[in-house]
Amino acid sequence: MRVIACWVLLAAAAAAQERYAVDWHKLEPEVLANFTALLKIDTSNPPGNETAAAKAIQAVLEREGIPCKLFALDPARANLVARIKGSGAKRPLLLMGHTDVVGVQREKWSFDPFAAINKNGVIYARGSRDDKPHVVAGMMTLLLLKRMNVKLDRDVIFLAEAGEEGTSTYGIDYMVKEHWPEIDAEFAMAEGGSIVERSGKPHYVSIATTEKSPQRTRLVAHGPAGHASRPEMANAVVHLAAAVERAGNWQTPMRLNETTRVYFQRLAEISPPALAARYRDILNPAKAAEVDKYFRKNEAGHYSILRTSVVPTIVNIGFRSNVIPSEGEAMLDIRALPDEDMTKFVAELRKVINDPAIEVIPPKSSARPVAAPSRIDTEMFRVLEEVGQRMFHVPTLPNMMTGATDNAQLRAKGVQAYGTGPIVSPEEGPLGGAHTDDEHIPVRALMGLMEYQWNAVIGVAAAK
Ligand SMILES: [Zn+2]
Repeated sequence: MRVIACWVLLAAAAAAQERYAVDWHKLEPEVLANFTALLKIDTSNPPGNETAAAKAIQAVLEREGIPCKLFALDPARANLVARIKGSGAKRPLLLMGHTDVVGVQREKWSFDPFAAINKNGVIYARGSRDDKPHVVAGMMTLLLLKRMNVKLDRDVIFLAEAGEEGTSTYGIDYMVKEHWPEIDAEFAMAEGGSIVERSGKPHYVSIATTEKSPQRTRLVAHGPAGHASRPEMANAVVHLAAAVERAGNWQTPMRLNETTRVYFQRLAEISPPALAARYRDILNPAKAAEVDKYFRKNEAGHYSILRTSVVPTIVNIGFRSNVIPSEGEAMLDIRALPDEDMTKFVAELRKVINDPAIEVIPPKSSARPVAAPSRIDTEMFRVLEEVGQRMFHVPTLPNMMTGATDNAQLRAKGVQAYGTGPIVSPEEGPLGGAHTDDEHIPVRALMGLMEYQWNAVIGVAAAK
């Protein structure tokens, strides 16, 4: 019964996508004009200046009769919200992209990072991957919904948010706290996923359904100060170094959740035999330990999604070569699984360090709220699977991000939030070059996201 209902639903979604077919080739110049205009606005955070981007988007949308609202905690850092109304039969769908970008070291770039140079069909600019593709996709989706007068079962909301790169106070936190009704939705699509290629062909669609939670923890060492000519057993430098070594080499317990289990199952199904065996074995309690060991040496990303990870990043101790310092500290960038009990985890960490001279100080609160993973049995996820299959003939793999995004705040409010993204080929690295020098995106990778998102929006929001 459930299977039939599901099939009917997907068939209806596919029919809607055919009804609202778009000539992407014809639309490409307009997408590129809007994308390029956004990339040329320097929204490096800090300071952000996202209002300039919000106003540019507002001008484009309002020219075609789509009203926009700007919400700003700081006048220079506005968030933009626009909405296409549906019948209200279903709860809204939110499309989100962040307008701020990380800063650049200009001398390391081969091009002006804010000129949006198009060289042989590849656009070079800060924000060309992270995250202006989602901003332009959200804009264009609203324009198309309006132009084609699409009948909707649910509102489609577009949020171009400020402050994602480390200053959520101005962006998602502000919107959640002060303007929640403006963006309240059943489903959301934002950054975090990708259309993964291998040997020039689509391999699978990666949809982020959850992410690890940053829990930055300090180790503080105490000891007697002294003259460095006299060795001292209680030397804080020695104690801190040993603690960092133990924490950094601690192989924390591995465990799977629904997202990672389905991820490895499906990855095994599309991998060559040797790799497939490894991905199947990680699901087999009798063989998992050995594969985990392999991941630890060879596949940091897979090792990380199986556990709460502990990575020392800063050590700060000592000030004179001939003085034994009495205090110093190290930073551990702990990234917790969504269901981790941090009190228990920190107690375990103290046991691993096993040194009364070392204080372990967990953060007062995590940088982003901790939330349950978004489900993979929802209408939205099924539509994403269907679109991936129809457009690229590949499966959809749910993924746990090792990094953190503003999807965490949405999930904490009960939104089923899914991370999508442009086409990524292996030579561009696992994050497609986000935050790197010479950040760039092939036009076809951008257009791939546009078309994918449009089909998903129609599939989940258009009246059947
Ligand atoms: Zn981003």
